[in-house]
Amino acid sequence: MSSLSDLPLRSDLRGLSPYGAPQKRVPVALNVNENTHPIPDAVAQDILSALAHAIESANRYPDREFLELRESLANYLGHGIAPEQVWAANGSNEVLQQILQAFGGPGRRVLGFTPTYSMYPILAMGTATEWIAGDRDADFELTPRRVADWISRENPDVVLLCSPNNPTGTPLSLETIVAAYDATDGIVVVDEAYAEFMPHGTPSALTLLPGRPRLIISRTMSKAFAFAGVRLGYLAADAAVTDALRLVRLPYHLSALTQAAAVAALAHADEMLAMVEEITTQRDRISRELTDLGYQPHVSGSNFVLFGGVDDPNAMFEALLADGVLIRDVGIPGHLRVSAGTTAETSAFLEAAARYTHGDGGKHGAGSKHSAGSKHSAGGTSAGEPTAAPVGL
Ligand code: PMP
Repeated sequence: MSSLSDLPLRSDLRGLSPYGAPQKRVPVALNVNENTHPIPDAVAQDILSALAHAIESANRYPDREFLELRESLANYLGHGIAPEQVWAANGSNEVLQQILQAFGGPGRRVLGFTPTYSMYPILAMGTATEWIAGDRDADFELTPRRVADWISRENPDVVLLCSPNNPTGTPLSLETIVAAYDATDGIVVVDEAYAEFMPHGTPSALTLLPGRPRLIISRTMSKAFAFAGVRLGYLAADAAVTDALRLVRLPYHLSALTQAAAVAALAHADEMLAMVEEITTQRDRISRELTDLGYQPHVSGSNFVLFGGVDDPNAMFEALLADGVLIRDVGIPGHLRVSAGTTAETSAFLEAAARYTHGDGGKHGAGSKHSAGSKHSAGGTSAGEPTAAPVGL
């Protein structure tokens, strides 16, 4: 077998590594912000019937415009959003990729605010869009002023705002989104992958859509909706944006099975989302109990918690893994990230964290704020898996 370096690869891809959050078989996997609760039985039965029906006509291409699904998604989103304002793809990663294919590309630039979702620079690279890494304040907050300053300095074609932000959990104010929109003539994308975990009554960026034709709100069924394995991400925007995305999408990109499963799940939105409350309860419990252990959890509006005060993230990551609990080192010095799981999974994490912290006569654990980044920050494993994305999934 020849190696990558023997191939006539695009020069801008040379030396890069693919995304690769470790996929390990462990009793408690709290590393990629999934909803760890299974799909309710009654809903699963309905989805199965829909799939059985869809397979009968799978000799034909699916509805290229996925009209029924767009209607279901528009209905779920509310806010007076019409089906023609909705677009979907195989996960919001693909939605974001299509946005960059249409509005980024060679000679164009996309601005994000790091630390943020690690796929943003990878999607930028894949679409030959230049990635500009803006920054955040000490607590990972993003003020209207900071965003507007970065935009006027860099004049990007696309601005990516993650709300709440991954991997920090930081909520984003509507004022900051409006400031970004007003500061640019380009596209402003608000990635609301975790929106359903925000406190009740928190307004979504969807409320900002009327009169803002360059604003795109990206969502996913992978998180709150417990549908990560199906791969369904979507967006709401002005109908002209969905027209633009038709120029770059592959024909029939959403399989008949994906469409059928998603429509069936959306018909049970309340049941699919029933665990959200339980998950945010566990998230808040994590923050509370980590504080008691001496760590510094950051404010989170999502289904995970980023916590600082870890003397040696590498050692803590390994100790928890040895206890069967997989969390995430996102490459922020002195920090680790954990997803909120079921009550039992969360207990397993907190007990393992306590054992680590109190172990060795208190030598480990919560202490001085900073330490060097660790080998896990690359997302690879010591078992020789490909190393990959820098931070944040
Ligand atoms: N946006 C953010 C902020 C995410 O954290 C993720 C997944 N970790 C995604 C988008 C992509 O999710 P999916 O492709 O499963 O919809």
